[in-house]
Amino acid sequence: MGRCTRAVLFKNNLKFNLEQIRKFVEPQTKICIAVKADGYGHNALLTAKLAHETGGIDYFAVARPDEGFELRNAGFEEHILLLSPCVPEDFESLFEYKITPLVFGEEYISLMAQAAKKVYGNSDKKADVFLAVDTGMGRIGCYPEEAGVQAKMIADSGVLNQAGTISHFAVSDSLSKENQEFTKKQFEAFKLAVENIKKQGLTPGICSCSASAALLNNTDMHFDMVRPGIITYGYYPDEITESYLKSVKKDFEVKPVMALETQVVAIRHFPKGKSVSYGRTWTAPEDTDIAVLPIGYADGLLRRFSPGLEVTINGKKYPVVGRICMDQCMVNIGKNNKNVKLFDKVLIFGPKESGALTTAEDLAKIGKTISYEIFTSISKRVERVVK
Ligand SMILES: *Cc1c(COP(=O)(O)O)cnc(C)c1O
Repeated sequence: MGRCTRAVLFKNNLKFNLEQIRKFVEPQTKICIAVKADGYGHNALLTAKLAHETGGIDYFAVARPDEGFELRNAGFEEHILLLSPCVPEDFESLFEYKITPLVFGEEYISLMAQAAKKVYGNSDKKADVFLAVDTGMGRIGCYPEEAGVQAKMIADSGVLNQAGTISHFAVSDSLSKENQEFTKKQFEAFKLAVENIKKQGLTPGICSCSASAALLNNTDMHFDMVRPGIITYGYYPDEITESYLKSVKKDFEVKPVMALETQVVAIRHFPKGKSVSYGRTWTAPEDTDIAVLPIGYADGLLRRFSPGLEVTINGKKYPVVGRICMDQCMVNIGKNNKNVKLFDKVLIFGPKESGALTTAEDLAKIGKTISYEIFTSISKRVERVVK
């Protein structure tokens, strides 16, 4: 047991976000919900279940083969897109589980075709793949100029079916003119890739470029399918915030899904001058009381959050002081605090209805990171509780 530190998932908010996404994009536009990394730490199966119930969601995106297997084993029949390349040892399982990999490059496509042949044998069925095109992200994919030739490799394999063509934007979450121009360039490069595929007499299948940021801000770039991740979980991608969307008259809103909470497990009197934790980075400037919390960096409360982090106890904020340890951290609650009692609930971050006064976005700022990393850092030993 270790129930005192838990990630509470507000199911209704997740459902609300999924409905907002479905409402925001054109009815004919397909939606692929990114549930990789266990739904950004929010439980992939819960996310998939609510997406299934929402309806009008065709694809789930995962990053590792076993994330796809988990969804299939749970009985989901939606398409599953594998966003990251994997190794040949996994290729056959992908097709056995009807997972759609991204492919590019001669050797990778040829090994994928061999695996598909093994799985489909002499039946005339083909295995779906998406061709990945690097239009400027600088991660995976063929270059737009190569897209025609690579599409032909897929077609010539006789056993792979190009069900889609995909790319990813590098700076669509930024509003600077320069970055929006770069996004436009990527958009044009993608169209060139599609032209090159068509010139070979082939079809690109489902075309898709937009994750959350471009979904919200570049509505002319949706093509056939959008791939929202972070907005599903109730946070905005960098500069594409709620207030920005209001300013450009876009009707869209999401609600944070997760609250990270723990409990006070000790309250200790500290005389003036007594130090707290490793490195003795903080010393009581006067007599005070210190609350001990059973949460640390092994739970995802990163060491670099202190100093800076403030937690919420019964509607008031209190600072974490001294270094965050692996399993514990300390909070300065001041002398004779009537608001904080032993075993009271402590909120690290969460949506309004959780009572938290800070969000994962606030935490991200303190840790010089993005909300995505806050969520995916919350480790396995933190129990997820659905509310
Ligand atoms: C993670 C990912 C997404 C989702 O990104 P968000 O910014 O969370 O919406 C979409 N597409 C690809 C290829 C990804 O890797």
